[in-house]
Amino acid sequence: MTRTSRLPGFYKVSVEERRALVSEATGADEDEIVRSLEGGGLDEETADKFVENVIGTYGLPYGVALNVRVNGSDHVVPMVVEEPSVVAAASNAARMVREGGGFTAEADAPLMTAQVQLTHVRDRAAAKERILASTRALLELADGAIPGLVERGGGARDLEVRELGSDEDAMLAVHVYVDCRDAMGANLVNGMAERIAPNLAEIASARVGLRILSNLCDRRCVRIVCRVPAKVLATEEMSGDEVIDGIVNASRFAELDPYRAATHNKGIMNGIDAVVIATGNDWRAVEAGAHAFAARDGQYRPLATWRREGDHLVGRLELPLALGTVGGTLRVHPAARLSLRLLAVTNAQELATIAASVGLASNLAALRALATCGIQRGHMALHARSVALAAGATGDEVERVATMIVEARNITLEAAQNALRVVRGPAAEGASGTLGEVTLD
Ligand code: NAD
Repeated sequence: MTRTSRLPGFYKVSVEERRALVSEATGADEDEIVRSLEGGGLDEETADKFVENVIGTYGLPYGVALNVRVNGSDHVVPMVVEEPSVVAAASNAARMVREGGGFTAEADAPLMTAQVQLTHVRDRAAAKERILASTRALLELADGAIPGLVERGGGARDLEVRELGSDEDAMLAVHVYVDCRDAMGANLVNGMAERIAPNLAEIASARVGLRILSNLCDRRCVRIVCRVPAKVLATEEMSGDEVIDGIVNASRFAELDPYRAATHNKGIMNGIDAVVIATGNDWRAVEAGAHAFAARDGQYRPLATWRREGDHLVGRLELPLALGTVGGTLRVHPAARLSLRLLAVTNAQELATIAASVGLASNLAALRALATCGIQRGHMALHARSVALAAGATGDEVERVATMIVEARNITLEAAQNALRVVRGPAAEGASGTLGEVTLD
């Protein structure tokens, strides 16, 4: 079966019909989809095993991004996110990217960085030399701590020593780079660091400090490129060429200004985090790594940049991305398991390239909106549904109230409450028939 992620009209059909379409597109059993997502995908008993002091579970919407093609393969991409417009924006932008052939992606080997801090070092340079001279024996010792991983083709690959501090607080940071295969790797790497730390301290005549991974896993980066033809970027008001100029201008702004870069990167993480959460991965780890990487040369910079190349807009994204398809709790969470099944990824590197591609799509959608009609038009139209819900609308009322407050350009709780009274008819208490003053707060 050739998988497709192009499902026209998907957003217009019911939740039930969408499940049937996803089942057809991915080969996942429809019952399995229903069962895996029942009650937010996590029962209380399982939740109680995950964390401490559990008194319940917390639901979030589970959607799918469509049109995503990475390295020639189509993926229906699960996204868990509470913010309106994120899933729609990623799907729309992925459709534009598809017109240029889809995303081209590469991922480094899944190398995590373990850090062992050594303190009370008398002669840093000499200690560093002694450690480096023992590299081979230390890597063997490290592998001894992670036999299961070594059996699967992973293991310690390299070692580096960094001198830190001044004469008063001289310390060494020993980095061991571990290929974690399909695991995110935090526990594996932490256990290994604890095992080799006493040997490192002995060699360096120093004391053991911290022993833990670094979330700045810059040896585990993904790089995504997309080429979008000008014509598909055009809007009613602007030509594709004008949109390209606007997006390049927005990219330059982020490259020059950390205040803009933070928001630019937030837009990228909208897409990435949603996939990270849907697949049961550690989004705090991903966030920490992304932002540390963005500031690696001393100035906080955009993770993705955009340039014109002839009549194409070309986007490039690079960031560290430590995702697993095994380990942690992700095989225990039914919804996370379903996500991996829908994605049909064969390894953790492939998962990282898909999550990052959705991040680049999210960035494109945001920049195109900002460079044309502004972010609020599309965003607020989708936000209107949440406002309608907050006003108490249920069932069909939600869409009707949302449409009314969008048309009135007054997407406020008060307007939604008034609209709901109108929808419910004169019998509804205090129906006024007006949506109040047009405001855009
Ligand atoms: P883990 O402890 O579950 O280890 C992965 C396990 O999967 C290992 O036993 C490994 O041998 C096994 N495995 C099976 N098939 C594999 C394959 N194909 N490739 C690799 N391993 C395979 O999980 P982990 O990935 O070591 O740790 C992830 C967890 O650690 C996450 O829950 C994360 O939140 C947490 N954590 C994060 C931090 C941090 O980011 N700072 C710190 C501590 C813990």
